[in-house]
Amino acid sequence: MSTLFLRTLREDPADAEVPSHKLLVRAGYVRRVAPGVYSWLPLGLRVLRAVENIVREEMNAIGGQEISLPALLPRDPYEVTGRWNEYGDALFRLQDRKGNDMLLGPTHEELFALLVRGEYSSYKDLPVTLYQIQTKYRDEERPRAGILRGREFVMKDSYSFDLDQDGAAASYQAHRGAYQAIFDRLGVKYVIVKATSGAMGGSASEEFLADSEVGEDTYVRSIETGYAANVEAVITPVPDAIAIEGQPAAQVYETGSTPTIATLVDWANATLDRTVTSADTLKNILVKVRAPGKDWQIMGIGIPGDRDVDMKRLEASLEPAEVALLDDADFAKTPELVRGYIGPAGVKNAGGTYLVDPRVVSGTRWITGADEQGKHVVDLVAGRDFEPDGTIEAAEVRDGDLTPDGTGTLLSAKGIEIGHIFQLGTKYTDAFEVDVLGETGKPVRLIQGSYGVGVSRLVAVIAEQCHDDKGLRWPKSVTPYDVHLVIAGKDAAVVEGAEKLAADLDAAGLSVLIDDRKASPGVKFKDAELLGMPAVVVVGRGFAGGTVEIRDRFAGTAEEVPVAEAVAILS
Ligand code: ATP
Ligand code: MG
Ligand code: MG
Ligand code: MG
Repeated sequence: MSTLFLRTLREDPADAEVPSHKLLVRAGYVRRVAPGVYSWLPLGLRVLRAVENIVREEMNAIGGQEISLPALLPRDPYEVTGRWNEYGDALFRLQDRKGNDMLLGPTHEELFALLVRGEYSSYKDLPVTLYQIQTKYRDEERPRAGILRGREFVMKDSYSFDLDQDGAAASYQAHRGAYQAIFDRLGVKYVIVKATSGAMGGSASEEFLADSEVGEDTYVRSIETGYAANVEAVITPVPDAIAIEGQPAAQVYETGSTPTIATLVDWANATLDRTVTSADTLKNILVKVRAPGKDWQIMGIGIPGDRDVDMKRLEASLEPAEVALLDDADFAKTPELVRGYIGPAGVKNAGGTYLVDPRVVSGTRWITGADEQGKHVVDLVAGRDFEPDGTIEAAEVRDGDLTPDGTGTLLSAKGIEIGHIFQLGTKYTDAFEVDVLGETGKPVRLIQGSYGVGVSRLVAVIAEQCHDDKGLRWPKSVTPYDVHLVIAGKDAAVVEGAEKLAADLDAAGLSVLIDDRKASPGVKFKDAELLGMPAVVVVGRGFAGGTVEIRDRFAGTAEEVPVAEAVAILS
């Protein structure tokens, strides 16, 4: 420590609110460069690398192959999938000297799909899982809590490519298992919850949320049934509402065709996950329509009693045109749009609370009380079309609500998202036509999965879950050093004895941080607590009598042991 590039701080940094942030800065693990942008100092980098390695080992164990893609990317692939715009302000966009648009990658679905298309051409090549551990960039609206929500951060992102649904499901399950192994090895307490797929698109998705009161995600869980879901994704069975499998931006019409009720019904049957038999059951779907050269316009279709009017409006504005489902960007742009189901008589779960499934991009009115019939949903404006107070609020899930199947009770808690797994389906492989030659000689469109772990965020999460009021406390799996050896005495015998013990520990495969500074024992002990190695060995007063003290940072215990036994006890 006399030469280690480390300065510990006695005071909490002024901008830090959560414990992990305060401690990681005070203990000299990270240093702030700009909001959400941090440098890793020696001890911090060792923890980061340890987390990375556990992630790497478990990804390799399921057959993942590590590659590394650039973070600096051309606009074009993201333009093809619409994410250049849909990602909104969170995307770091820049131009090169020639004026070409570029971006700093927030996530790499596009690039992996393109890479596989370029390299693979036969069904014999599949399945494949590729991953990278790489720096990601997102211009977060509220960078927060140091490395917990950075604008530059390290993510492990992997992508699976399969020939069929069974294969895709197997790849998803393999990742799910790998993530459990990773978080178990890291000693993180977490839950797996149903999730929405957000900007990734696709259908099935689950999040791994670390238990933490400082978490920004709220989830509900039922002890009785084991049901657990992010509140964003609570699903309740809804009679007569039309659930759309999270497929944003499905293109419905060929340019030049004119939509009719019949084509809409066909489209709904092809796109939605329940059968639509007539326009009557097509109620309350919102779509966006675009005539050539015009902007997208949000319209409601098929509302009973109102549908002829609607269809006329639709047809009038659609010649020729595209029709697509609303996506996240539409909701982001139009705050008045409220996500939720809307049924003919309101939609309640068994507990009497209105629940929202944001995957359902169809219903946007959220109406309680007097106005339960539903009305027009075109160009919704808060205040004009509905009362903002008392209506939207009812969509929140509350403690004590029943589970969707009515057999359990929900309790809510906070968590930090540490992993997220998605079945993307063909969203990206369609966009880039990623096909291989199938066994029958026909082309097969590949099915993609996408899986992320917040590697740098995990360092903060572990610090958050493991610290005490004295400082950090690292689990053995990620600690920067196994043993923190404090030289608490000036005698040559003590110093030599400490160095010999360090060498023995090292030979036994334990990494050792030696505090050989000139500071007082009191200062050294305080720093040892702050830095958080799981074992602290004090070579000092007892050494002349042949003992050293071993302190357990987790248990808070201390015991004098014979020097000769120290290595065995610590191994
Ligand atoms: P969040 O909900 O916290 O914003 P996300 O859902 O946007 O996360 P994903 O796109 O699912 O994140 O990315 C995969 C993983 O990357 C997340 O589960 C999380 O652990 C991590 N991650 C995402 N954003 C950040 C960030 N700004 N800083 C650190 N880690 C992040
Ligand atoms: Mg995010
Ligand atoms: Mg999230
Ligand atoms: Mg996520």
